[in-house]
Amino acid sequence: MRLRFIGGVGAVAVAVIVSGCGSEPVTQVKDAKADSAAKQQLFKAAQAKAAAAVKANELGQVPVLMYHRIVDKPGTTDDRTPAQFRTELERLAKENYVPVTAAEFVTGKIDIPAGKHPVVLTFDDSSPSQLTLDAMGTPKANTAVAIMREVAAKHSGFRPVATFYITRDMFGKHVREEQAQTLLWLKSNGFDLGNHTRDHYNLRARTHDQVEEQIGSIGKEINELAGVKPVTIALPYGVQPRKKEWAARGKSYHHQGVFLAGYTPAASPFSKSFDALGIPRIRAMDKKGDCAQFCSTAWLDWLKANPDMRYTSDGDPSTVAYPKFKNPFLRASYKAKALAY
Ligand SMILES: [Zn+2]
Repeated sequence: MRLRFIGGVGAVAVAVIVSGCGSEPVTQVKDAKADSAAKQQLFKAAQAKAAAAVKANELGQVPVLMYHRIVDKPGTTDDRTPAQFRTELERLAKENYVPVTAAEFVTGKIDIPAGKHPVVLTFDDSSPSQLTLDAMGTPKANTAVAIMREVAAKHSGFRPVATFYITRDMFGKHVREEQAQTLLWLKSNGFDLGNHTRDHYNLRARTHDQVEEQIGSIGKEINELAGVKPVTIALPYGVQPRKKEWAARGKSYHHQGVFLAGYTPAASPFSKSFDALGIPRIRAMDKKGDCAQFCSTAWLDWLKANPDMRYTSDGDPSTVAYPKFKNPFLRASYKAKALAY
């Protein structure tokens, strides 16, 4: 539920104008102020009650899922089949997850209904299996984008949004017009474009100049083709450069979030534990082998079994709602938005 507060300062100003310059305005202003403060208190109490009713926890953890190719015959342990991908999305929809983009997540713009949980879907390496447009400009069947849209059509409220981390591969397109067409299609359909470096090198052994060149050149290309400056970056192999700040800021780029590979859900962007320079992602994979505990199926099981650890929205993007005892975990920069209940 969304509650809006109207009044406050405006009501006080009106009282002053109406009362003119006689002898009574001081009390009238005081009354109006007290009235408005009382209204605001009532409004806050109603907000807190609504947040408590859905057990809102906007300091809880968020799964950021990492996908690579969506192909019929997986060649590596990073690939998923269309059926596996569809099954995972169906599960997310049934368990009340709503996708938000990586850019929305790192900037705290998590605008989803009360009682729902955010999930961030990310796709690395800009492969054709993620998006290929047919001659009519429609996503081909069984590409990641087509599957997301099918699942969203079946489950109202499941937003078909995701972040694509782009390299020079550009969804297998080599002609500039086709590259632009693909990126612009994503942009105009609400998808988010992120930086994955130009050549997908391990940045650990590279100099500062080389790191800036790898990140800056593809960032510039994405901007030229689609008019988008990536808000976030995903590091190839999840490996940080010698100084981790190099991935976030360069002469031509300023990222508000740096994503790794990693093995855990991510901290809420409103939590003190949130580290914008190293945000973990979870590999999308069943519960087997080295994924018995630390990939998507296992973590979604864990979050389901531990709902108090999971991010749950109060439905109001202007507040950060959470149970009072979690107060020490709130990031100072979000204090003004806090709604502890
Ligand atoms: Zn990659």
